[in-house]
Amino acid sequence: MRKKVVIANWKMNYDFHETTSFIRNFLKIVFEKKINHNKEIIIAPSFPFLHISNQISQGTTLNIAAQNIHQKEKGPYTGEVSASMLKSIGVQKVILGHSERREFFFEKNNVLLKKIKIALKYGLNIIFCVGESYLERSNDQQFEIIKDQLKKTVFDCSSDEIKSFYIAYEPIWAIGTGKTATFEQAQTMHEFIRSLLLEKYGERISNRIPILYGGSINDFNAKDLFYQKDIDGGLVGTSSMELKKFLKIIQS
Ligand code: PEP
Repeated sequence: MRKKVVIANWKMNYDFHETTSFIRNFLKIVFEKKINHNKEIIIAPSFPFLHISNQISQGTTLNIAAQNIHQKEKGPYTGEVSASMLKSIGVQKVILGHSERREFFFEKNNVLLKKIKIALKYGLNIIFCVGESYLERSNDQQFEIIKDQLKKTVFDCSSDEIKSFYIAYEPIWAIGTGKTATFEQAQTMHEFIRSLLLEKYGERISNRIPILYGGSINDFNAKDLFYQKDIDGGLVGTSSMELKKFLKIIQS
């Protein structure tokens, strides 16, 4: 049985106080009230707060992830953050390929592949996002788009490297729009992604890679989505920023 995973992507939100008090309150509620969620929980705050977030969550089951890394090891890249820097403060996971990075920072598959390789070199787990646009889905191209994104990035990895991945299916038209994919649409795509993993890496590996859904998950729709056979949890943006909603989602 694959473990369910819920990831909070806070994007460029929350300052020091908001980040630390959310995490402290979250841990207090989960541990003191012994909320039984049976899921792997990961929070991805902004770069400046990764260190303190990691310290606060030391010794708990909460994991902290970064939202990005640079594709180079080090050097004259003003304003950038490297995989080794994250590793040096104890961060073990990173989100790559988010549609906002692809759209606003022009990250193409070739750059994403470099980011994947450097993340793997430093032993980071990768939460890799793929997704189609509204136009691509309207033209019924979603399957070829997802296959192409995976082929040019994740599928360049060996059977050993792929074990470090979580794959997040995030239809772009559903991110931050309040329009969720139906659970049938999401399950169909997840089943397709799993079949691609099976073809490339075989049954044992394809059965253990978590495939998460992302795109306007909330405390009402999470249950139906998470109930699907190939949906192993969610990558949550907006609804992860309200403690009550986030707790309900992880209990779904
Ligand atoms: C996201 O940004 O990864 C995301 C899924 O956002 P939202 O939940 O707001 O759609």
